[in-house]
Amino acid sequence: MAEQQGFEQYGLDDKIVQALQLLGMTQPTAVQQQVIPQVLAGRDVTAQAQTGSGKTAAYAVPLCHLVDWDENKPQVMILTPTRELAMQVQQEILNIGKLKRIKAPALYGKHSFRQQEQDLKQKSHMVVGTPGRILDHLERGTLFTGYIGYLVIDEADEMLHMGFLEQVEQILSYLPEDRVTLLFSATMPKEVQRLAEQYQKNPLQIQIAGEPISSRKIGHSYYDCTERDRLELLLELLKVYNPDSCIIFANMRVQVEEIYDALWDDGFSCARLHGGMEQWERTEVMRDFKKGRFRYLVATDVAARGIDVENISLVVNYELPPEQETYIHRIGRTGRAGQCGTAISLLESWEHSELQRIEALLQQSIEQKEAPDADTVAAAEQAFRDKMEQEPEAKGQKTAVLHEQILKLQIADGKKAKIRPVDIVGTICAIPGVEAADIGVIHILDWTSTVEILNGKGLLVLRALQTKPIKAKIRKVTKAKFQGDI
Ligand code: AMP
Repeated sequence: MAEQQGFEQYGLDDKIVQALQLLGMTQPTAVQQQVIPQVLAGRDVTAQAQTGSGKTAAYAVPLCHLVDWDENKPQVMILTPTRELAMQVQQEILNIGKLKRIKAPALYGKHSFRQQEQDLKQKSHMVVGTPGRILDHLERGTLFTGYIGYLVIDEADEMLHMGFLEQVEQILSYLPEDRVTLLFSATMPKEVQRLAEQYQKNPLQIQIAGEPISSRKIGHSYYDCTERDRLELLLELLKVYNPDSCIIFANMRVQVEEIYDALWDDGFSCARLHGGMEQWERTEVMRDFKKGRFRYLVATDVAARGIDVENISLVVNYELPPEQETYIHRIGRTGRAGQCGTAISLLESWEHSELQRIEALLQQSIEQKEAPDADTVAAAEQAFRDKMEQEPEAKGQKTAVLHEQILKLQIADGKKAKIRPVDIVGTICAIPGVEAADIGVIHILDWTSTVEILNGKGLLVLRALQTKPIKAKIRKVTKAKFQGDI
């Protein structure tokens, strides 16, 4: 018999393998090949892996398989340094666990505590969140940790840079000692190693040789500038490069605002992202960027860390980051999945010594380039304007097949009407041609509920529920506004 190469080789629940197939994930990546069997065997792992290596699925796949669906209290806790990453990890888990009906609330700051408290009262197999808010829940007794058998610390080095290590350690004191601890980090500074030594049991150390960032097809170069002409040079370079999709990194919010204003005034298709913005706005910007609704994102590192967006062809360092490792994280946004990418930096003369340190870290030289002359910029203007007129190509379609067969319905009543999952399941299972296996995740909020209908039976159920009572009453049932996305 031929050896199995795909995810089937791990003996995973069929529902997980099927979801992976629908997501277009057929072959495990290098990090997945190393991590998945270890997690399934219950071993602690310390993995050095970058965003883009498939590290989220490396833990999400085995953990979605391992959780016991019938258990209502959280069995897995995942800590991430930023809210955006928490949401991204949550989305990946919900996708992989869609057919197994995994529930995974995200717990992060600047979002209603009460709403999260309500979510935690419902079935929650896994929780994903930022350390501050998770600690809040722990201190207020709204998050039960007695059954947490798996802890994931994702982007541990970034936790360190953001000053979260102390909070992570406090959280650890709430968790059962008898657990598996998985730690992922792009770099391994001393403090992260100490964390691993102190809190992990004989962890398997994995270093992903698969795709070091320096071997990706990324062209690195820099342009000399002065403080006065930096912004002008940026605009000229962007027009000459004329990328389909680009991120520009700056170190501070005020600079992000300044660059964003300049781009906007010049007709660029753009948006910005930094920690000073309201959470709903940050969420919307990230969602739109992932879907390819605009071409240029101007961002600080904090907001954009670990974010996975397809096909970014150009990354710009408006200035070099304060930490050398951050350069690697920034350029890690491009040249993904074997595609080519370009990374450019604008430098004042005093930044040259920093550049050398980055070259040493990258083990690669960064080529100096001449700023384009006025003729080159003028010649590029028309192509740039044409591109700004064109609708950007849609991205983020990989979940489309998974969602094709699923329709999320909204029921205009919830907890206040004493509706429970069993009431919804009871009514739906009584519809001819529909069975329990066709029902996906159910969420019951105070005034409203949602239920996912699988296997292409959504419209059938929607029609039937117009006349069939749920808990003795006919309810208003419609298609939910947000399908697929959280
Ligand atoms: P990450 O490194 O976790 O940020 O993942 C990078 C991207 O690769 C995400 O969009 C994943 O959904 C995708 N991905 C992860 N594993 C696989 C796989 N085995 N096959 C195809 N895509 C994958």
